[in-house]
Amino acid sequence: MSQKVIGLIGGMSWESSAEYYRIIHQAVRARLGGLHSARCLIWSFDFGEIEALQHAGRWDDATTEMIDAASRLERGGADFVVICTNTMHRLAEQVEAAIGVPLLHIADPTAERIRSAGLRRVALIGTAFTMEQEFYKGRLADRHGLQVQVLVLVLVPSDEDRALVHRVIYEELVQGRVEAASRQAYREVIARLVERGAEAVILGCTEIMLLVRPEDSSVPLFDTTTIHAEAAVDSALSG
Ligand code: GLU
Repeated sequence: MSQKVIGLIGGMSWESSAEYYRIIHQAVRARLGGLHSARCLIWSFDFGEIEALQHAGRWDDATTEMIDAASRLERGGADFVVICTNTMHRLAEQVEAAIGVPLLHIADPTAERIRSAGLRRVALIGTAFTMEQEFYKGRLADRHGLQVQVLVLVLVPSDEDRALVHRVIYEELVQGRVEAASRQAYREVIARLVERGAEAVILGCTEIMLLVRPEDSSVPLFDTTTIHAEAAVDSALSG
């Protein structure tokens, strides 16, 4: 079987890109057996530069960087592109419009899994950008009809929990630090979401799966890293 070439825009952070790389190869091996592995290209950013643009609100400059990365992958032979972070899907539409190959949006396979599990009330945890801005919640709600409970709407004090989730991502997880105290704090954030009616929680940041496991929640967790990487393999092996 001829595989399509997966183009990964990574390095945001490389801690989660490494998980994508592992999951993609494991999924291809599970599907094709033997010594098969994925055909893929990775463009890996210097995350220090990207993070500075994010926190300065310089999204136009970040868009230029993302389009440049996607174009490099396209020129290198990628058949489709995968942005290995939820946050940078803020720019997904502009990237998609600028390249000649498809972009596999992280929210789409995530929403499909949630819907096929028969769940409709979900909570979303991720960076402040992902939790607060419309690009992610909007796509889930508009395209997939999910009712997304963002922390700020359901928690008291919601902004504290949001700040905590965001801080742990940038000060620990993207730097490879996985702390027991932060896992406990996330457990409590998730428990408060469940108390408010969440039937499931989207781990809407690609490093959260390094910290939080299914046993840390009383409701199903939808890990966007695994879901997105597996969807990339589905695409690579289809048609
Ligand atoms: N990987 C994270 C995400 O999925 C955060 C890093 C970033 O800002 O890209 O949102």
